[in-house]
Amino acid sequence: MQPLPRATPDHPTATRQESEGMEPGRRSFLRRLGGLTLAGAAGAIAPGLFSPEAQAAISSAPKRSLAFKSLHTGETLKATYWSNGRYDPHALVDIAHILRDWRADEVGNMDPALYDLLFALRRKLGTDQPFNIISGYRCPKTNAMLASKSDGVAKKSMHMEGKAIDIAVPGRKLTAVRNAALELKLGGVGLYSKSGFVHVDTGRVRQWGS
Ligand SMILES: [Zn+2]
Repeated sequence: MQPLPRATPDHPTATRQESEGMEPGRRSFLRRLGGLTLAGAAGAIAPGLFSPEAQAAISSAPKRSLAFKSLHTGETLKATYWSNGRYDPHALVDIAHILRDWRADEVGNMDPALYDLLFALRRKLGTDQPFNIISGYRCPKTNAMLASKSDGVAKKSMHMEGKAIDIAVPGRKLTAVRNAALELKLGGVGLYSKSGFVHVDTGRVRQWGS
C-alpha cells in the first residue's frame, strides 16, 4: 500500500460531472485554444524531447487515450485526446478542466506534450488505471501560497506553465512510476515519497527527490 497523498479530498463541494456543460473557465480555455494552430502541433512529437522508446510508444498508437481521477474533487475522466492524426480540441479542454487549479477554480493553458508524456508513461507501466491527480495546473497565486508553506514547491513551478503534474498510479509503487519516467527521458521527474506522488514535467531531463 502506498501512503495516501496528503492532499486527499479536502474540497468536497467541487464535484462536477463532465456532462454538466462548459463552465466559464472551459469557455475561455476554448477561446485560447482557438488561437492555437492545432494542425501545426498535431501528430508531431517534438524532436529530441523524448527517448526513442517513448517516441515509438507514442507514434505507433493510432489513438492516444488517458484516464484521470482528481483526488481533490473526485472527478474522473477518460479521454481520447489524439486520433486520426490530430489532437482533439474537445478532449484537450476536458483534460485541462480536470487538471485545473481547484483552489482558484482556474483552468490552465496546458501543454499537450504533457499528455504525450503521460501516455508514454502509461504504456511503459502497462496499466489502464487512471492517473490519480495530486496537482495539475496551479495559478500563480496558488503556487505562491504552496511555495510559502513547503520547500518542495518551486516559486517558478512548471505547474504554472501547464507543463507539470503530480501523480500516483493505483497498483504501481511510486518508485516504479519514477523509474519508468526516468527511463523514458520524458523531462523532469521528482519523487515525493512522503507526500505520495511523483512529479513529471515536460522541461529538460532532470531528477530529484526521494
Ligand atoms: Zn509537481
